[in-house]
Amino acid sequence: MAPRGAVYIQRMWDALQDPVIAAALVREAPDIIATFDSDGSFLQGNPAAVRQSGYSLAELRVLPLAALFDPPDLARLSAARDRTLAGEQVSFTVRYRRRDGEQRWIAVRAAPIVRDGAGGAVLVFARDVTDDVIRTRALRESDERFRSLVSAFDRAFFVVDLDLRVAGVFGRWVRTGGFDARAWLGRTAAELSPRTGGEPHTSALQRTLTGEDVTYEWHYEPGGDGEARRLRVNLSPMRDADGNVTGIAGVAADVTGRVRAEAEAAALRARIVESERAEALGKLVSGVAHELNNPLAAVLNFTEDLLDTEPDPDRRAALEVVRAQALRSRTIVRDLLTFARRGGHRPLSPQEPGPIIESIVKAMRPGLGRGVSLHCEISDGDTSIELDRAGFEQVVTNLVTNAAHSAPRDGHVRLIARRDGAAFLIEVCDDGPGIPSEILPRIFEPFFTTKATGQGVGLGLSVSLGIVQEHHGSLEASNGADGLGACFTVRLPVSARVPIAPTPPIGIPLVRGHQRTPSPDAPGLLIVDDEEPIRRALRRFFERRGWRVDEATDGLEGLEKLVAPGAEKRYAAILCDLRMPGLDGPELYEKVRELVPALLGRIVISTGDTSGDKAADFLDSVNAPVLQKPYELSEVATLLDQLRAGNLTGG
Ligand code: ADP
Repeated sequence: MAPRGAVYIQRMWDALQDPVIAAALVREAPDIIATFDSDGSFLQGNPAAVRQSGYSLAELRVLPLAALFDPPDLARLSAARDRTLAGEQVSFTVRYRRRDGEQRWIAVRAAPIVRDGAGGAVLVFARDVTDDVIRTRALRESDERFRSLVSAFDRAFFVVDLDLRVAGVFGRWVRTGGFDARAWLGRTAAELSPRTGGEPHTSALQRTLTGEDVTYEWHYEPGGDGEARRLRVNLSPMRDADGNVTGIAGVAADVTGRVRAEAEAAALRARIVESERAEALGKLVSGVAHELNNPLAAVLNFTEDLLDTEPDPDRRAALEVVRAQALRSRTIVRDLLTFARRGGHRPLSPQEPGPIIESIVKAMRPGLGRGVSLHCEISDGDTSIELDRAGFEQVVTNLVTNAAHSAPRDGHVRLIARRDGAAFLIEVCDDGPGIPSEILPRIFEPFFTTKATGQGVGLGLSVSLGIVQEHHGSLEASNGADGLGACFTVRLPVSARVPIAPTPPIGIPLVRGHQRTPSPDAPGLLIVDDEEPIRRALRRFFERRGWRVDEATDGLEGLEKLVAPGAEKRYAAILCDLRMPGLDGPELYEKVRELVPALLGRIVISTGDTSGDKAADFLDSVNAPVLQKPYELSEVATLLDQLRAGNLTGG
């Protein structure tokens, strides 16, 4: 038995052999069926040809083709006709104009036919496809609009299907971000980055498939020398008309710059808060340190005073300990004050480092404790370097103190100072355990200390580094070759200026035998200070050295004494505090300039704080020698000796 389909086709074929049926087919066909002569003229057409063109068959027969088709299409038509007459079947789409002027699109299929005795002709089937063409064009336009819209944003847009495969990637960022969009198509996130299993994308995409909107951050490492980027990705489910999820639409925005800007803004805010806190802390520290200075000065000065006259070696040793501890406290207070007014400017002047280092070493040696010895080698000590003496002393004192602290019992500290090319170098080394490598990067941080509470506040090195930098120098730490012993190296630039007069060594003759009645030609000293213990210590110390000492408890009393007749003869030196109730130091100085200018050059300023604006301005504007409280009595004596010898100039 023949298959059913074959029987059906046979029946169809038989029916078509019936001319009546064939004619009916042509008549009723919805598409145009027409024949054309070999010269292109219209021969026959079915009712659809008449209906669709708007012309009658008679009109079509005489109508020139140019009335139906535009010139470029005419050329295509005649080429198609030639190919058909040569025996080919040809298909094409062309536009024609209806009688009413409307333009329609037809998809044409042309086949050759041979008529008995009349030569070749062309059979044409033409279907109106205007709606399809319009729809396709609209689609293409919308696609273009979509693409230009999408590429107007610096984003990456993408579509992912239900299998989590990338179905499309668009957007300007795809280009600017250096993506190879083609490599993404058809792949899953896991395939694209197997190392991470496609995370964080895979889990975000899976959540989106459950119907959620998902936002996440993607740290994108482009590989090669491309810069790492931060992308904020938004995913939304796409749904069909029934609300079923059909895929995922995503947009990724590059937020690298924004994240960086936000981080910078946060850091800036933190710095502002930090600097406000530091300022408040600085004020507090400076206030406390300042308050400590006067009692410390009294302790220091009375200890010195007692040492001056104490013959018993045991008692002297005990007093040396008190003095060393007071000096240590002074260092801490100075470090705190220096730290609190960081950034304040230090006037530098050309000086010789040798004598200054010598005097520091001499003062520190007895107080190092635990049998630690200090060995000092200075060469080229007369090299000129730009110094703020107090700051320089602070640095050397801090380094020697640290070294002595780290040295073992009966250990050694070595200080070597010498010129090294365009720099003057000061090296302080010890034979202690050295600096462990893990703390080496931190030792210059403020408040970093490995010492027990009460042993160190962690400011020495940070403050020293600050001071050295203000001197345009450097401070470095290292360990000995065998890891043993620490070495700190200060380098300061050598100055081309001639150094100011070097400080002569301390050599104050002590008047023995408690001589209290000074000789009439003894030099006179006026102490103007509101701190009674300081005045008392100074008086005892200088009277014992043969000075005639007067005291004034404030500026006004000081002025009275200085304008009194004979004052010029009476006072070889005036030691004047800056901060006093009533008439203060600067005001007294101005009055002296006005009323007894001859005395101006004999004034030595003493101060516990040079940080206040008024004090700093005053000290900048005058050329008087300055003593920083708490001072040692021997320092005052040295300065007064220099003053009397004419080595210092005031006013
Ligand atoms: P402090 O001495 O108050 O601790 P510093 O700023 O002077 O503060 O020193 C910080 C830290 O550096 C010390 O606690 C110590 O750990 C280390 N350090 C400083 N000098 C030496 C040294 N000569 N040998 C070993 N470690 C040192």
